[in-house]
Amino acid sequence: MKKLIIIGDPIEHSLSPIMHNAALKELNLDKEWTYTKLRVKSIELANLVKKMRDDEITGINVTIPHKINIIQHLDGLTKEAQLIVAVNTITKENGRITGHNTDGIGCLQALVESNVNIDGKIIILGAGGAARAIVFALAMNGAREIIIFNRTAEKAKLLANEVTQKTNAIVRAENLENIKKELIDADILINCTSIGMKGEQENKTLVTTSDLHPNLIVMDIIYNPLNTRLLEEAKNAGCKTINGINMLVNQGAAALEIWTGKKAPTEIMKRVLLNELTNIVLIGFRGTGKTSVGKALAKKLSKTLVETDEIIERKANKSVSKIFIDDGQITFRELEIECIKNIFRTQNAIISCGGGVVLNKINIDRLRKNGTIILLTASIEMINKRIAGSNRPPLEASNEDLLKFREPFYNSAADLIIDTTNLSVEEVADIIVEKMNL
Ligand code: NAP
Repeated sequence: MKKLIIIGDPIEHSLSPIMHNAALKELNLDKEWTYTKLRVKSIELANLVKKMRDDEITGINVTIPHKINIIQHLDGLTKEAQLIVAVNTITKENGRITGHNTDGIGCLQALVESNVNIDGKIIILGAGGAARAIVFALAMNGAREIIIFNRTAEKAKLLANEVTQKTNAIVRAENLENIKKELIDADILINCTSIGMKGEQENKTLVTTSDLHPNLIVMDIIYNPLNTRLLEEAKNAGCKTINGINMLVNQGAAALEIWTGKKAPTEIMKRVLLNELTNIVLIGFRGTGKTSVGKALAKKLSKTLVETDEIIERKANKSVSKIFIDDGQITFRELEIECIKNIFRTQNAIISCGGGVVLNKINIDRLRKNGTIILLTASIEMINKRIAGSNRPPLEASNEDLLKFREPFYNSAADLIIDTTNLSVEEVADIIVEKMNL
């Protein structure tokens, strides 16, 4: 058995095992190769490298905080790793334990995949490990001008000087208060800081919409959440945006190719990551099967089912019908907006929404940030048949009129539409799994 591991501290939230194991399976290597995560303290690094020497471990991915510390235990570094002075991938080559760094190439490939020309003025936020890898990769691959901003200004200066000495690129560091001025004629902005990352720094950003212009391309290398606050601000400014998922896939693919010698199946790797990081959101009129399809999907895909009406009922301590009768529809819609606000950041869930969720655009905007929206439809005859005798909220209009009114809202919100009229619950769930390549 060939053993691959990712080491770090903490490591619990790493998505690399999911991505690499899916790739190994696709390559038919999963009987011979495994990829697991291991929480490791600095003191254990030497022993782990020894295990590579003894062929107990075939390859190692390294993440925070060991990317630099590990170097002292290795026999050599690739040219990139030597420049960056950080290692994220270790392999054994002709008996020598060698450190690679695939972060830079991963980011460059992500830019190329988004048809971004790097021959321009590039602003880099951050001067940590990822920023180092990316600045060197850009500098060695044709960036015209790179300007680095970092909270600890001294680190930005040191990095700029180092890259200037080791490459032909024009690289300088600037103080954060000058960022607005430098952004005016910049072509690309890349966030390489951890600002915006899930956890304490989520929903923070170093630049906002008013700092940006529509011709700027904004990349955030953070992949969790996929849509960071910075990317939201950039979208509002009309910028083209790139999230961190393709870089994550490409740096992983490069590592897998180093270990196995085989072309990595990047499509599959990306798909499993998106599956982990995003939700499936079911919308549609009453009687189109959102709850039953939601339950079937959750079971099939081992995901959590989140039902908005159920959450609202629990919070209000009464049924949706009773809220409509006692407090009115407007109060219900307010509770619904609050509910969506609280749950849209959930990941890896099936979210089954109440029929009127589409009436407030803010709900759909939030749900789309982290999910694929699937509209379930059915003929009015089938809807009437399915909901006959059930306890539904009292609404003034008939089902026909209400459906007609809501249809444009449903259609404009949907990423995917499935007509459930002549399908069983299982059939609808299977179609969703197939259409979404899950
Ligand atoms: P790192 O070496 O710890 O660097 C962190 C950077 O963020 C430093 O520049 C640091 O500034 C800055 N920073 C942290 N907290 C800050 C704050 N409160 N205000 C301003 N700046 C702050 O980490 P890294 O390895 O470079 O990773 C950075 C981010 O990139 C992480 O979110 C990581 O998940 C992501 N990443 C993504 C990929 C991918 O494949 N998509 C690959 C690698 C990393 P100071 O120097 O002042 O501390």
